[in-house]
Amino acid sequence: MSQGNIGVVLPDYQLATERVADEGKVYELIIIGGGPAGLTAGVYAARKRMDVLLLTQDIGGQVMLTGEIENYMGYERITGEELIARFKEQLSHQEITVQEESRVASITRGGKVFIAYTDEGYSYRARTVIIASGKRSRPLDVPGEERLVGRGVSYCAVCDAPLFAGRDVAVVGGGNSGLTAAIDLIKIANKVYVVSAHSSLPGDPVLVEQVEQTPQVDIFVFCDVQEVLGRERVTGIRIRSRQEEEERTLPVQGVFVEKGFLPNSELAQDIVKLSEDHEIIIDLGCRTSVPGIFAAGDVTTVPEKQIIISAGEGAKAALSAYNYLITTS
Ligand SMILES: Cc1cc2nc3c(=O)[nH]c(=O)nc-3n(C[C@H](O)[C@H](O)[C@H](O)COP(=O)(O)OP(=O)(O)OC[C@H]3O[C@@H](n4cnc5c(N)ncnc54)[C@H](O)[C@@H]3O)c2cc1C
Repeated sequence: MSQGNIGVVLPDYQLATERVADEGKVYELIIIGGGPAGLTAGVYAARKRMDVLLLTQDIGGQVMLTGEIENYMGYERITGEELIARFKEQLSHQEITVQEESRVASITRGGKVFIAYTDEGYSYRARTVIIASGKRSRPLDVPGEERLVGRGVSYCAVCDAPLFAGRDVAVVGGGNSGLTAAIDLIKIANKVYVVSAHSSLPGDPVLVEQVEQTPQVDIFVFCDVQEVLGRERVTGIRIRSRQEEEERTLPVQGVFVEKGFLPNSELAQDIVKLSEDHEIIIDLGCRTSVPGIFAAGDVTTVPEKQIIISAGEGAKAALSAYNYLITTS
């Protein structure tokens, strides 16, 4: 039996570079996003022989930030990079135009077609659209944060933890992603501070126990980060206790922001209905509030955000778009 796929080197499959996005034509479907939802939608739509344009900032989405994956069926263990290489391989066999490094800013309706406008100044037309733009980390929104991104401020412990070997770091957020980040960092960093705005760590008890029992970890609950300190690189964070209204500085060289996620739904906010959490509201067929526009994966109200769920939702959205096309003149 295979013990997983770790270490398998796959070729970098090219996604039909000979096909170029065409501003002059009306596609049957535009897919926005190249994560598990968008790539799976691409395979399903191409197999229905739909004329598809996939617009995306990158290929892989959040999966490229993931170290090892142990819950995608068919692979006991696989790295995010390898899984996306497999997705790309599968998509490379299909007739589909893929435009990478393309960020859709907005979507409008013009008669019977939808128009997707990109930040790069292009506009593309299609009879149906699938929005699969995923989600991103929620920022701290404090002074110093933006300036020091990549200079000690990180949103991905899996990616950046090794850069902080022997250093002192803070993890902001005491939910499961914060605690998982702290557990990863314990193995690498010298000292780990966990800062949570809640009165106790809100993550799963088994993770909380593991973090609490590690002597290398100091926990600050009921505290907000006020500022990330440092000129060229992070030198600390200023935190404020909600209870005692006291401030203190934690001398750290790294800050891992683990405060949850925001859906990448801004491109759709003027055309489809969003939930209070800014997720695109969909029904069981991935239909949005606008006939002809579908949505899939982490950007939607689908419960649970996982690779296998996004892939399944992408498949459903493509089949719904196909059914819409054959039943609508
Ligand atoms: C660190 C980490 C570890 C994880 N580990 C696991 C795990 O072990 N198992 C698991 O099942 N899940 C895991 N997840 C969750 C999983 O990665 C997501 O649920 C999944 O990637 C969602 O897929 P998606 O296609 O909906 O969105 P994303 O993966 O977010 O992909 C969105 C795509 O849309 C593109 N995009 C965004 N905005 C625009 C725009 N305006 N215009 C054009 N393109 C745009 C992005 O570039 C990206 O290609 C993890 C997530 C993270 C962050």
